[in-house]
Amino acid sequence: MLALRPNCECCDKDLPNGSAEALICTFECTFCASCAETRFGGRCPNCGGDLVKRPTRPVAMLAKYPASTERVRKHHKACA
Ligand SMILES: [Zn+2]
Ligand SMILES: [Zn+2]
Repeated sequence: MLALRPNCECCDKDLPNGSAEALICTFECTFCASCAETRFGGRCPNCGGDLVKRPTRPVAMLAKYPASTERVRKHHKACA
């Protein structure tokens, strides 16, 4: 199950469930669309995989399967 991480690990922008800007790789490294495009060229800087739009968890499912509240930050060379 996806953790649905709450933020971009590069710029720390909030990316709540349902955000159209949330992109993930196969390991669920999570980035905002801006960082993914302008800093990383659509590739995850951690694993090299492609970044795709994160699916939205239906609201009715969130009570039983809540989104993660643990903010993940990693420093990448492209991150200011
Ligand atoms: Zn970002
Ligand atoms: Zn990755």
